[in-house]
Amino acid sequence: MKILVIEDNEQNMYLIRFLLESNGFTAIEALNGQDGIRLAHEMKPDIILLDIQLPGMDGYEIAGVIRSSPEIQTIPIIAVTSYAMSGDRERILAAGATDYIEKPINPETFIDQIRVHFPQRRADNESINC
Ligand code: MN
Repeated sequence: MKILVIEDNEQNMYLIRFLLESNGFTAIEALNGQDGIRLAHEMKPDIILLDIQLPGMDGYEIAGVIRSSPEIQTIPIIAVTSYAMSGDRERILAAGATDYIEKPINPETFIDQIRVHFPQRRADNESINC
């Protein structure tokens, strides 16, 4: 499972990479939106973790570009942001994010919050509902 992390804060990137790799996932790192979009095309990650406040393009703009790029538009995007107000949450979901995780990251729940969006897990949930 490959996870693209678009995050400009070194400490957050370090923590996210540590959590992903210690759970057996491959972390692909991008420090800005331009690199993130390029790596999404090149690496076809299973999930994209997206910071909102970034140099250059912000997370809203990046989510919009990914959702309008046919080759990568179906990849789940999970916004990871310190914005806590509900209006910001609505705004990033409207921009194309699939879900939203609030900073500070909680190492106890972070992986579970991502796992919900794995294709297989989603199928399991559907069968439980039947
Ligand atoms: Mn940031």
